[in-house]
Amino acid sequence: MKLRLIFSRVRSARVSDELRGWLIQGGGNVRPSDITSLCPTKRDVWLIRHGVKMNSEGVIGKGLSYHNEVLGVVSEAVRNGWEGVGRALDYVRTHAGMWALALATAWLSNGAVPPIAIEPRLPPAAGFTSSRPDMVIGNSPVEVAYINGGSRYVELKRIELAAYSLIIEALTNIPVDVAYLIVITDRSVNTEDVVIDDTLRSEALTVRDAIAEIINSKTPPPLPGNCPQSCPLRRYCLGGSDG
Ligand code: SF4
Repeated sequence: MKLRLIFSRVRSARVSDELRGWLIQGGGNVRPSDITSLCPTKRDVWLIRHGVKMNSEGVIGKGLSYHNEVLGVVSEAVRNGWEGVGRALDYVRTHAGMWALALATAWLSNGAVPPIAIEPRLPPAAGFTSSRPDMVIGNSPVEVAYINGGSRYVELKRIELAAYSLIIEALTNIPVDVAYLIVITDRSVNTEDVVIDDTLRSEALTVRDAIAEIINSKTPPPLPGNCPQSCPLRRYCLGGSDG
């Protein structure tokens, strides 16, 4: 298993001053996680903002299991060190959990776990509403993504990371030039350094404003041609009474 300790060598990116988080205005009611919502037309974002409840059974999937296992192991290591890693052995079931165990073990063997916040609730900033990245390591946001098929989801995850970076910059006044994406497939786990450059920053703001417009619309977006099987609102949209 190829293992990186997550911290990259990227220390700075070329970023225009006006695209730093502390100078960003506008927006207001969009969460970074809306950027990666499942629905191609963002109908899910509109429905939830307008009071429709998710069918919680629908969101328990393989991706969520991997996500919870990775975050569970890391949080044990952060809170309880070696003892926590020992405890995590009891519930690790998948290759993603083993990867997290190997990572936590490497951190501890190297002297210490880096400063990590697990799912911190961030207040509104940079024109986004309150949000919760999966982790923040040092000053860099981290997302855990399960990929099963197309690469568009990875592209959107990078934009979501740019949104968290803008928010953290706005809250701390410290530049965030790199974020991390932990990509899990059914056979592998990889860590990607995501350089938060001008392109990603601009995309995050464009998508933010497009989603804000959708949320503020009086009518929901149309159904897309194809609804993902894993969408928890399928019964609501396509017939049923989950809402
Ligand atoms: S069921 Fe289809 S239309 Fe409804 S939110 Fe999900 S993907 Fe969008």
